[in-house]
Amino acid sequence: MTTAALSSAPEAGESAELLSRDPSTGKPIGSVPIAAPEEVRSAVARVRDAATTWADLEARERRRHLDRWRRTIADRRGELLELLQAEAGKAPADALLEVNLALHHLEWAAVHSRRALAPQRVRSGLMMLGHTSTLVRRPYGVIGVIGPWNYPVYTPMGSIAYALATGNGVVFKPSEHTALIGQWLVDRFADAAPDHPVFEAVHGFGATGAALVEAGTDKIAFTGSVGTGRKVMAGCAASLTPVLMELGGKDAAIVDTDADLDDAADAIVWGALMNAGQTCAGVERVYAVDEVYDALLERITHRAGQIRAAIDYGAITMPAQIDVIAEHIDAALTDGGRATVGGRESVRSPFVDPVVLVDVPEDSAAVREETFGPVLIVNRADDVHDAISRANGTPYALGAAVFGRRRGRWIAEQLRSGMVSVNGVVDFGAVPALPFGGNGASGFGRIHGIPGLQEFTTCMSITERRLRLPVRPQRFSRSRVDIAALVLLLNRHRRVRR
Ligand code: NDP
Repeated sequence: MTTAALSSAPEAGESAELLSRDPSTGKPIGSVPIAAPEEVRSAVARVRDAATTWADLEARERRRHLDRWRRTIADRRGELLELLQAEAGKAPADALLEVNLALHHLEWAAVHSRRALAPQRVRSGLMMLGHTSTLVRRPYGVIGVIGPWNYPVYTPMGSIAYALATGNGVVFKPSEHTALIGQWLVDRFADAAPDHPVFEAVHGFGATGAALVEAGTDKIAFTGSVGTGRKVMAGCAASLTPVLMELGGKDAAIVDTDADLDDAADAIVWGALMNAGQTCAGVERVYAVDEVYDALLERITHRAGQIRAAIDYGAITMPAQIDVIAEHIDAALTDGGRATVGGRESVRSPFVDPVVLVDVPEDSAAVREETFGPVLIVNRADDVHDAISRANGTPYALGAAVFGRRRGRWIAEQLRSGMVSVNGVVDFGAVPALPFGGNGASGFGRIHGIPGLQEFTTCMSITERRLRLPVRPQRFSRSRVDIAALVLLLNRHRRVRR
């Protein structure tokens, strides 16, 4: 057997290492072993064993371990921040923001898991008088978390922390582009909770992710592109493994007549360019109503024109994404759009400077498909209804932003997306109590918040007979009195007002 450092899938029988590179320089910065399918299955089996004890702990005991993990990450934040810059190409401020957000969620999940797991008494209703009814939540067992590279700490933490806090074990397949960061998180958990080996990583390319899908986990939490999401779902269908899908987006910002235009432009430019535009819920389209369009565009053009790749944000992490970004700029310009900032020359691999495009037809690939780069389309809308209809016009429905005073909340509620920030961008992602996720092609299921904790639990419904009432129609021994009681109950429904 040979050991090779690879940047593609290993040949059969080859024991291989996954080489991680700095996307800004292409230089190798470390490696991790690639897990073969049998190693992935072993990891799931080991975590399943350990998760039995973990699930039996009181929520407050698990919280102590998770708090220790949080403190360990915070104490050694220098290493993680360096890795985020070296492996994910993050600008220092983006890395700092990401670690902060991730720890904020880890804290919230640990504190609130007790509430999410608490048995819930519900009314038994007339048919079941004399019974108590309770909804009990239990961990699934082992959750397979498959994560992307764009927010390699914050995004998977939305599944990992919430799954661990509710008593599950986790086997994590980080993106091949951010494997070292994934392994670092696992190693710090091992430092913090050495007696509970409930969190492991398996590394490799798509094949390792596919192996995890087939490895007998109890649920898969997938974050990534629509195309891979389809493959993951098909894999889960074979074993009826439940799946949570956090997929891509083409988020729009709507700017209404009474918006604070300076603030809107400032927020939109950040929402579009932060992390080099590699943000699932970043702003890719703007629809500004006619009255404010020109003034907003002037502000956006001015601000975006001051931002520089390699200074204000980092490199494009995944080399193949550069082609998609270039194709979308070409498509927008060929389809009749024009650039007010940058253009095709802004793509200088591995960096892409800001590009602002206007008048791009709604059927252009640049408007309909996820670009995942620092490219912003600013289109004019006739009025707010036109803006809403265009914002809702792609299959994606992840997040959105609305800028306006009087009708902000109303506009938000007309959108199909799973999350909306009014007078801000991506603000919902920083509120741990709010569920995070999309609709349509952006996926289903939720991370974060109580629904995000409960996403990693199964529910069991328990009824308990407490009183032995004389009427018992659910028996073969039922009497005429029981039948009469059923007729009475049925007749109630005939009295409903017409
Ligand atoms: P991909 O879909 O390419 O990959 C996601 C993960 O799936 C990676 O770990 C990848 O491994 C793995 N994978 C690849 N093929 C398979 C397979 N056949 N079976 C199982 N797993 C597989 O997404 P990206 O990593 O490129 O992430 C960017 C995408 O993620 C964007 O579309 C973005 O919008 C979305 N995203 C969504 C978020 C949300 O919350 N809705 C948040 C963040 C990102 P490998 O990398 O080794 O190929």
